Amino acid sequence: MLLSDKDRIFTNLYGVHDWTLKGALARGDWDGTKAILAQGHDWIIDQVKASGLRGRGGAGFSTGLKWSFMPKTVGERPHYLVVNADEGEPGTCKDRDMMRNDPHKLLEGCLIAGFAMRAHVAYIYIRGEFYREAERLEAAIAQAEEAGLLGDNACGTGWPFRVYVHRGAGAYICGEETALIQSLEGKKGQPRLKPPFPAGVGLYGCPTTVNNVESIAVVPTILRRGSSWFAGIGRENNSGTKVFCISGHVNKPCNVEEAMSVPLRTLIEQHAGGVRGGWDNLLAIIPGGASVPLLPKHICDDVLMDFDALKEVKSGLGTAAVMVMDKSTDVVKAITRLSKFYQHESCGQCTPCREGCGWMARVMERLVTGEAEIEEIDILEEVTRQVEGHTICALGDAAAWPIQGLIRHFRPELERRIKARKGANGDAAPASAA
Ligand code: SF4
Repeated sequence: MLLSDKDRIFTNLYGVHDWTLKGALARGDWDGTKAILAQGHDWIIDQVKASGLRGRGGAGFSTGLKWSFMPKTVGERPHYLVVNADEGEPGTCKDRDMMRNDPHKLLEGCLIAGFAMRAHVAYIYIRGEFYREAERLEAAIAQAEEAGLLGDNACGTGWPFRVYVHRGAGAYICGEETALIQSLEGKKGQPRLKPPFPAGVGLYGCPTTVNNVESIAVVPTILRRGSSWFAGIGRENNSGTKVFCISGHVNKPCNVEEAMSVPLRTLIEQHAGGVRGGWDNLLAIIPGGASVPLLPKHICDDVLMDFDALKEVKSGLGTAAVMVMDKSTDVVKAITRLSKFYQHESCGQCTPCREGCGWMARVMERLVTGEAEIEEIDILEEVTRQVEGHTICALGDAAAWPIQGLIRHFRPELERRIKARKGANGDAAPASAA
């Protein structure tokens, strides 16, 4: 079932309306916030749990459950909310539009989430390149403070709450929560092993929860409309609305908020104008940023766009960045580009990732031109298995999975290039899936 306009949370995703406080108030933001806070810390957390909201940054962990890990009392160590706005996943540009066009949704969400977790401060760690979005957030914070919605007596509740914007410096790895915390503290942004989890030992050694922009920005609407409303969209365990970023070889690339669990084919047809040249011209789709490519047969099977359905087909929803490739795409080159991205962004502190990402990218470059040996395809797959699950953070996995998918789905194309290079099969022909 497609989402109707009345169920869309981000009513200014495209920036056609006034983004300022005046416009936000007219669209219903900051409505009844004081009454929501009056329900109490635990009520808010219970409602978010009941809504079924799962983290929109890619991991898909229950947001309410994550909040419940924060201590119930505040001792000498203050509690912190940190919003992860370091959006850098390939193909992903949803948080950027939310912050640019609907900043008050995020700020109201910060207050409600921060209050629920007994925090008086939220930091929004924003990607350094999002200069205009950072400026806009600063302006929106000033508007909210002037109106008494944030500040020493937020919304007249007696709860002091301030939001600060911190700009990153361009490192993709700072989107990983422990690296982000390190960076926020002024240290080198490198992930660390968990436990301890941030809810116990986070920013400045204090209890901290890190959430994605979308996860926080949807909370006010969930609480206003009720957890059962949100839970009723999508399907069990994959509920609510989701902003999808559709790019690549479609007729109308876009960001769109749709119901979770929408069929991938429907999503592309209804919102992106279909595949360029028609569905027969489709080669593959990467459904979630840097996840394993899906083939036309998956689309014919009407794969659903949610955490569990994509896991079943050995891919992932990730940040819901849908990248469409038609038959003009050199799929080996496209995956090589991803490999080089991860090689560049590896922080280098664990050996399988540091050495493995470089190794994988170099072999991939030789596979593009067919200069590799046939046996290297198996060696490459073995290296991805050695990287996967053997690193401190998930960057190693993210680097390994697209290559595993490429070998699984396009092995004949890899072999054809090597043979062609050796002069057995003549010139390269268009890529075809297994
Ligand atoms: Fe750094 Fe890679 Fe290890 Fe993550 S997996 S901590 S990015 S070296």
